[in-house]
Amino acid sequence: MREDIKSMTLEELTAALGQMGEPAFRGKQVFSWLHRGVRSFEEMSNLSKPLRERLAESCYIDAPVAVQKQVSRLDGTVKYLWQLRDGSCIETVLMQYRHGNTVCVSTQVGCRMGCAFCASTIGGKARDLQPSEILDQALFTQSDSGLPVSNIVLMGIGEPMDNLDNVLRFLELVNHPQGMKIGMRHISLSTCGVVPGIRRLAELELQLTLSVSLHAPDSETRNKLMPVNRAYDVEELFAACHDYFRRTGRRISFEYAMIDGVNDSDWQADLIVQKLRGMPGHVNLIPLNDVAESPLKPSRRVSKFQQRLESQGVTATVRRSLGGDIDASCGQLRRKAMENGKKGL
Ligand code: SAH
Repeated sequence: MREDIKSMTLEELTAALGQMGEPAFRGKQVFSWLHRGVRSFEEMSNLSKPLRERLAESCYIDAPVAVQKQVSRLDGTVKYLWQLRDGSCIETVLMQYRHGNTVCVSTQVGCRMGCAFCASTIGGKARDLQPSEILDQALFTQSDSGLPVSNIVLMGIGEPMDNLDNVLRFLELVNHPQGMKIGMRHISLSTCGVVPGIRRLAELELQLTLSVSLHAPDSETRNKLMPVNRAYDVEELFAACHDYFRRTGRRISFEYAMIDGVNDSDWQADLIVQKLRGMPGHVNLIPLNDVAESPLKPSRRVSKFQQRLESQGVTATVRRSLGGDIDASCGQLRRKAMENGKKGL
């Protein structure tokens, strides 16, 4: 079986080429071609033809095909539905902010975490994405859109900490000086609360921003919304977050999708304040995106809740919604494509 060359680190690539009798600088050459988004070895024009042929025999270059591209007329948000080598589809979103263009990448095909409000998890998880497949979303979104990518958020389909080895390798690749050179401080990784993953990440002391999808500060509510809470409850989650902050010195961002009558009460705001004591957290309130398959409805108390947090010293922002006209929230486009596929459209 041929190897996925773009998932290799520069060191691995250099070693593999060394075994083929190539000098050390060859690794860098090939690495930078790959990270410029070439789709074939043919394009590596400073390599000899025999070497290109040998590489093509032992390796393949991953490159997804854009099967759908939607551009929001409201704010220029671009959403891609990519088809991968095995035919499965994933989504990537490009958002244009004043501070730079941000790409939101998927980390798995589907998701097995089962959150009640989320469209990505409806069909379960098909498989993990390879490091190259995560990287390609940034690479090809940049080349296709012509917009330089300066920030990356791992907030698309999938749970990054359910595929942590590949995600860590992706981070190394995308951060590499010979590659896309995205600084760790320009990367956010979001988790639904997989505590061992948070602890493992803490040990690496990366400068990225950890985002925790909280959605409820009490286990009774959180159990109903997020099955992961039955494995790692609110107490364990906050203990891991406090340790994460102590270890890395990095402020954690808490995502909180506001759901009518479920998690938008005053006592829940107060409980968040209490749980965050001793740690400079930031709460990002998200007006719930209506998912057709779900009975959960958006809250009408978003600004009241925000004020209640702020008045007690917890920074809280309301996330501006982008791409409202193009199904830009996670999992929605892939869901539609799957539905249409089922109907044979
Ligand atoms: N699995 C990771 C990465 C997904 S990030 C995680 O759970 O953090 C996507 C973010 O969007 C998460 O915070 C998720 O909880 C949130 N989300 C999912 N469905 C949503 C919806 N219908 N409305 C608002 N936010 C939603």
